Amino acid sequence: RLVAPELGEPAEERFDRAIRPKTLTDYIGQPAVREQMEIFVSAARMRNEPLDHTLIFGPPGLGKTTLANILANEMGVSLKTTSGPVLEKAGDLAALLTNLDAGDVLFIDEIHRLSPNIEEILYPAMEDYQLDIMIGEGPAARSIKLDLPPFTLVGATTRAGLLTSPLRDRFGIVQRLEFYGVKDLTTIVSRSAGILGMELDDAGAHEIALRSRGTPRIANRLLRRVRDYAEVKADGFVTAKIADQALNMLNVDSSGFDHQDRRLLLAMIERFDGGPVGVDSLAAAISEERGTIEDVLEPYLIQQGYIMRTPRGRVVTNQAYRHFGLEMPKSGDI
Ligand code: ADP
Repeated sequence: RLVAPELGEPAEERFDRAIRPKTLTDYIGQPAVREQMEIFVSAARMRNEPLDHTLIFGPPGLGKTTLANILANEMGVSLKTTSGPVLEKAGDLAALLTNLDAGDVLFIDEIHRLSPNIEEILYPAMEDYQLDIMIGEGPAARSIKLDLPPFTLVGATTRAGLLTSPLRDRFGIVQRLEFYGVKDLTTIVSRSAGILGMELDDAGAHEIALRSRGTPRIANRLLRRVRDYAEVKADGFVTAKIADQALNMLNVDSSGFDHQDRRLLLAMIERFDGGPVGVDSLAAAISEERGTIEDVLEPYLIQQGYIMRTPRGRVVTNQAYRHFGLEMPKSGDI
């Protein structure tokens, strides 16, 4: 579908709608992003202009879609959502663009996956609010030009490096989302619990935050699972002990790693002597897609210092060995 809803199971989607922050004030953490966007939004509103085109990048679940929705809300305009892989034909994008009202936000998720012909159409649309497309084929083909209402394109991508430079250059605002610290995640968990009417103490929220891989979506997902556990195994009240028991049962370990993280680290240690190893060899060793390793698994492990990227490939650090209670071999041993 052209205007696709969020992925995920229906119950998670409902939950997500209820807890998703709607204003910049409710957007927790990311202080630099928040401060800058407050200024850019206020300035655009004062001048009665659409917000500049904005590119948001960061690993999945850090709040790119949420921020896009907030920007539209703060600007007092509507948001239309689509994604790079969904836009196959020029007409798909043309239909979306011509349906926008003045000032609206068009949100394109996974914008790095746009096909080159769609990108070409975006350039004049972003620069001059002009749509320039070919209709028909062969000798009957002709080009038509249409004026578009002024609009804001908000693009989201997991890594800025994936974007072509002509596209990247057309964004006036570029924001990078960072992994969240435990304090901000604790606030996010407590806020979600409050909205859900759940009983949870600070230590319980802290325990969930610690094990959420720096990612709000994971924090909220773990909160839902911990709630199930607390309701069935206890009286529904979430303490640190209940959260710990629930997360252990879910195989989320003390560092917040799940089965996939552990498989990746252990493959590096056991099959590649700690590295250096190339991402393709790793992908083959754990039967995982290269993109999943690069976008989902590795960023947090690198940020937390379990893996390092070197020119010769990925290597695990001493911290990774310690996580599994192993000794790091001295370089002479290998
Ligand atoms: P992305 O688009 O980057 O994959 P989303 O915007 O869908 O991530 O965010 C995932 C979930 O995390 C949302 O349900 C939202 O409620 C929550 N979330 C993300 N960022 C924040 C934030 N800064 N404060 C509070 N909740 C957040």
